[in-house]
Formats: sequence, C-alpha cells, structure tokens
Amino acid sequence: MTFDQARWTADEERYEPLLSEKHTREVEVESSLPDGLTRDTLELPDLSEPELARHYTRLSEMNYGVENGPFPLGSCTMKYNPKFTEDVAANPHAAVHPDRSPESVQGTLELLYRLQDYLGRIGGMDAVTLQPPAGAAGEFAGILVAKAYHEANGEERSEVIVPDSAHGTNFASAALAGYDVVELPGADDGRVDLEALEAAVGDDTAALMLTNPNTLGLFERDIERIADVVHEAGGLLYYDGANLNALLGRVRPGDMGFDVMHYNVHKTFATPHGGGGPGAGPVGVREDLAEFLPDPRVRRTDGGYELFTPERSIGKVHGEQGNWLVLVKAYAYIARLGDEGLSDASAKAVLNANYLASQVDYDVPFEPFHHEFVASADTDAADVAKRMLDYGVHPPTTKWPEAVPEALMTEPTEVENRASLDQLAAAFDAVAEEDEAAIESAPQRTAARRIDQAGAARNPRLSWQALDEQE
Ligand SMILES: *Cc1c(COP(=O)(O)O)cnc(C)c1O
Repeated sequence: MTFDQARWTADEERYEPLLSEKHTREVEVESSLPDGLTRDTLELPDLSEPELARHYTRLSEMNYGVENGPFPLGSCTMKYNPKFTEDVAANPHAAVHPDRSPESVQGTLELLYRLQDYLGRIGGMDAVTLQPPAGAAGEFAGILVAKAYHEANGEERSEVIVPDSAHGTNFASAALAGYDVVELPGADDGRVDLEALEAAVGDDTAALMLTNPNTLGLFERDIERIADVVHEAGGLLYYDGANLNALLGRVRPGDMGFDVMHYNVHKTFATPHGGGGPGAGPVGVREDLAEFLPDPRVRRTDGGYELFTPERSIGKVHGEQGNWLVLVKAYAYIARLGDEGLSDASAKAVLNANYLASQVDYDVPFEPFHHEFVASADTDAADVAKRMLDYGVHPPTTKWPEAVPEALMTEPTEVENRASLDQLAAAFDAVAEEDEAAIESAPQRTAARRIDQAGAARNPRLSWQALDEQE
C-alpha cells in the first residue's frame, strides 16, 4: 500500500489560503448595541458556493481521519462512527430548545431516561447523570459526588489515590476537586501493587481511581481484594470507564465493587470526537450516592417523564442536559447494537488487538492484554509514529504509559477487518526495519511535515487575525 497525502499550496510557503485571503468584501453592520461596542463595517469572506466547497474539501484532503484508514490511538479509541447515528441526530425533531416545557418535550426526556437506564445496566450502576460534556468533566463530577458523600457523612478525607499508569486527567480531576493526589507505583507485572495499596490507604483516603483493564490493557485480577481494601478504609472506588471496549456486555464495574464511574460515549459508543470534543462523559453511581448527582436528572412519572434535582445535588456541571445531540448518537448506537452487538464489539476489539500484536515485530512486555497493547519501540517512539504516517496509517499513542520504554499504545478497535489490521502490521514492521535517518526525517508524504508541537500547544494562533498580527 502506498500513500501520498494531498498538499494544496498557494505558493511554496503557504497551504491552501484562508477564506479571508481568497476574497473579501466590506459589509456594513447594523446593531442595536451601543456604538462603543460595535464596528460599523466588517470584512467578510466573499466566495461562491463552489469555491467554498473546494476549500473545505481540500482541507479535508490534507488531513487524516477514521474515514481514511485505521486510527489505532490507544486509550483514545478512534473507532469509525456509523452514519446512521448522524441521521438520527439530524432529525429536525431532535433540535429542541432546552427551555421548552417538559410537557412539550416528552420524547426528548424519554430518550435521556432510556440512555440513563442503558448506561446504568451496562456499568452495573444504580443511577446515572448525562450532564458532563467529556470524560475529564465526568471524572471531576464523579469525584465531587464522592466528596459530597464523605462530607454528608461528616468525614474529612483529603486524599485520592491514583496509580502511576492512570490517564493524566485522573490526577487533574482529583486535584481540581481539592484533593491531595497520592500516586501509587505499579507492581512488576503492570498491575496494582496490593502491598503498596494497603500501605497507601487510610483514614484520609476519599477514593481510589482505577482503570480496568488498565492502560497497559491488563485486567486487574485482584479487583475484589482491591475493592475490599479501599472499602474497609472507608474510601470509595472510582472507575475510569472512558474506555469500556474490552468489557462491554461481559463484566460490569458495579459488579467488581466500583461505587462511581464515568463513561466516555465518544470512545465506547462511537460518537465522533477529536480536537477537544464535543463528547459526553456521563457518570454512574451506586444507590446511596445518587442524591448527590448533578442537577437535573430525568425520572419517570405516572404518565411520562420529568426533570428533577437530586436531593443533595452538587449542582450543575454543564448547561442544561449536557451535549444533547452527542447523547442522541450514543443512544442510537447502543439501541442498534443491542446486547448481542455490544458483546460482539468487545470480543472483536480484544481479538483485533491480539491479532495485530501477533503480527508485529515489536516487543510487547505486558500480557495478557485485552482491547489494546503497548509495544516498545527500539528507537524514539515519536519518530516511529511520524514515519507510520508515511505508510498511510495513523500511528498509535506514544510515550505512555511510562512502564513501557518508548511506548506505542495500540488500540485497533473492533471496526478494522483483517486486511486493515495487516496494513497496520505492515506499517509497524516496515518502520522497524528502516534506518534512523529515514525515521528522523519523516513524515515525507503528508501535507504537513514535522510541526512544532510544543509551540502549537503553548502559543496557539487560532484566528487569521492572530496569524496576521504575528507575521
Ligand atoms: C480519554 C480518557 C479520559 C478523558 O476523557 P476525555 O473525554 O478526553 O476528557 C480519561 N481516562 C482515560 C483512560 C481515557 O482514555
């Protein structure tokens, strides 16, 4: 398989020009706002429809996504998002104003109620809120619920324990909620070190945040013992359920002893994500934590559905019911797949990861893994990743978790067939056989070459004015 990405340039230096660089027109602005706050004229792009369509098509041709080929970004789960969910969300009846009276939006409330119910059953949780707009926001809300629970019991607990292999957002969520974060070193086999855990828990422990299978793809076999240790100390067990792709339809966090969890519908239930959202990070809890959930939730009444404020709610974590249309897509996906489809998805996710790992010529130090595996590169993992782009596949997540040197965290997802897994394996292995020079100068065949990643993150120029000013 060979690959060359389109590269639309205005000249040697600049890519496809911005709309405002193509053709603009001064338009007069009329506004009822005070003069000091408004401009009299605005310079706006002035283009025909074909010009506009070509502009965006060209930009898309200089990009790579799940509709171009495999995208095995471990932990992030970039599975293909089926189009029927877009059709459902595009139904004109789905576009309801959030301030409409509950009586006039019974269908909307019913869908939210049913999704709460689906997620509760999938996770083994008694009550669910759909409000948080992302996984990290779900973690934050979940930890606030745990905090409210401890406070209601008259307990002051100051620490949240997080394994060193956890997703970075776990540390951040606990810290933002006002906790001291205790980092738990992993055992040699990549799992939780029970002795270290026993030493870490105590009267100060508010919660342990755990991912299972963890970020190495390993299942925490001692999960029941772990739950006992945390519960005996009076702490809560938090499940990072961003990625449920190994568990769907098989094992439920609630049955493992978890008290609070979040779900990433944009990782597990195939709603689109990337570039920061929008997603949805619903939170599930066991019965006695339900009264602290964010406001509002949906419940059944005699004749229909209504919104209500949980008795000791932590308040709002997002406007209205959260990212409604994302929730519609998640609902459509779960409803279409059903029990059998969800179990089938997890079986294929695990099979695909294991097949791919068996085909690549890289060391995979931790086994047995499930929906993802972490390979170790002989050279700089970031260079390997850049070179993989030249083979027309998206690279894995790199340099994390740290337990694996030069980590390539790989999650092919259930949607790839054998041919595309073989294409991925071929890309991995082709790079492994190349010399340093070829790898260090990659990518060669993409629209953009090596970009200044740190600069782009620290000094983003998000508008053409910002670009102009800087230049
Ligand atoms: C992606 C991810 C998160 C955070 O979810 P966002 O929606 O990106 O905020 C948390 N934990 C794990 C394990 C993840 O993979």
